[in-house]
Amino acid sequence: MGNRFQVQDRFEGGAQYIGGQLRPGTSGRTHTVVNPATGEGIHTYELAGTDDVDAAVAAAKAAFPGWSGATPGERSDALHGFAAVLAEQAEDFAYAESLQCGKPIKLSREFDVPGTIDNAAFFAGAARHLEGKSAGEYDGDHTSYIRREAIGVVGSIAPWNYPLQMAAWKVLPAIAAGNTIVLKPAELTPFTSLMFAQAATEAGLPDGVINVVTGAGKDAGEHLVGHPDVAMTSFTGSTPVGKRVAEIATASVKRLHLELGGKAPFLVFDDADLEAAIHGAVAGALINTGQDCTAATRAYVQRPLYDAFVSGVAELMESVRLGDPFDESTDLGPLISFAQRDRVAAVVDRARSYARIVTGGEAPQGALKDGAYYRPTLIADAAQDSEAVQDEIFGPVLVVLPFDSDDEGIALANDTPYGLASSAWTRDVFRAHRATREIKAGCVWVNDHIPILSEMPHGGYKASGFGKDMSAYSFEEYTQVKHVMFDNTAVARKDWHRTIFGDR
Ligand code: NAD
Repeated sequence: MGNRFQVQDRFEGGAQYIGGQLRPGTSGRTHTVVNPATGEGIHTYELAGTDDVDAAVAAAKAAFPGWSGATPGERSDALHGFAAVLAEQAEDFAYAESLQCGKPIKLSREFDVPGTIDNAAFFAGAARHLEGKSAGEYDGDHTSYIRREAIGVVGSIAPWNYPLQMAAWKVLPAIAAGNTIVLKPAELTPFTSLMFAQAATEAGLPDGVINVVTGAGKDAGEHLVGHPDVAMTSFTGSTPVGKRVAEIATASVKRLHLELGGKAPFLVFDDADLEAAIHGAVAGALINTGQDCTAATRAYVQRPLYDAFVSGVAELMESVRLGDPFDESTDLGPLISFAQRDRVAAVVDRARSYARIVTGGEAPQGALKDGAYYRPTLIADAAQDSEAVQDEIFGPVLVVLPFDSDDEGIALANDTPYGLASSAWTRDVFRAHRATREIKAGCVWVNDHIPILSEMPHGGYKASGFGKDMSAYSFEEYTQVKHVMFDNTAVARKDWHRTIFGDR
């Protein structure tokens, strides 16, 4: 790697980005970011406390009148500049993301970073297209129109699995619509969210439009959600934490956007292209070491293809190369932490008593034993109501089950509390359309699993949350509509006043 990102140098001023400046957190507690590929500490920083959250919210509040009052064209120009700065720094972002997450460098370079730049470019354009209904005379005596307005200060909380993309997904639609924001990334992965905010400043966005507090969920996170000057909470993370966030946000009557966990079904009908389904399942299950809310986690395969699918997936999983994230030939990096690796291993270990571990089910030894690695794992013969089938594992683990009729396959696909993503594999257009209609999820892919687009919405059904990231649909979350009504009659005594004055 030529262009190594020097974390210590870059964040020696602290890891809170407030009003366009880095500063140390004041909670009195520190966190050490650990490289999950080696177990080595990379950088220790002072966590944000409630005072830092207050300062960040104050900076966002002060920036709001100017930023929300800018013209759409001015915000668009600023976001185009932001996209250009992100593109110039692409290699630094890829390096930092791989360092803090253990992502294979090819994933950071080809997925996380270009996706983020594309998102910034998309919202630069979309900032000029905040539309509403046309004005009209709905009762004949008045003219009504809609104003679409920014909400105010948005408090956003993000997870560790795609720190850069999550920063982009939370921040860009919010600021394109004229809001200002305080983002709290996960404690484990602060670097690229901070760099993202710094890049915005370099591009000329006003101080205070994007602020980042890097603190723990319980104190900095809850304080941000409950803050009286925060008008909206947008949260991406697990369903249990999302429920807690919802309680706090609801108590202060805030607008709420929740992107929560997933347990995506991968439904293979008996006319599917088997080779495509096998490759799609392995790639869809292992992307980001399975730490992806849309990852393929439950493969349901119609009986005639079942045995060939199981042996094909196992063989392909065994060919995946685990290794140093900075080795360009590495396919799969470690999990985010040793704690996450142990959680995944415990689910697989419990599954041994009720299912068959076809491949994987262990941490690699040898050169990788000091990192949080876990082998790609395929579990067969688990019951539909078992933990491995029902609960989010968030690791490189795929569960496979057979089904007989199409009705049964679709019913099984819908049989978890989650509803974020899904896929259907078939060459029959009627089956494909039926699956897209009947699967209860925010996304149904047909003959693929994982691709996302800036132009298309991402969001959940059921316990996977509500609201949309990306696309013009995200503006529904980050704007509020106001009805403006003008009287056209110019009469002092209106017809409707009879309800008050009678015939006087
Ligand atoms: P998590 O829920 O543990 O944490 C997410 C964020 O919430 C972190 O910043 C954390 O510090 C903060 N937090 C924790 N407790 C809090 C509290 N009491 N109040 C306020 N904030 C609090 O999730 P994670 O382990 O970081 O990420 C993995 C989860 O995220 C998975 O469930 C995954 O499915 C989900 N996820 C969902 C999407 C989506 O788009 N739906 C995308 C990525 C990840």
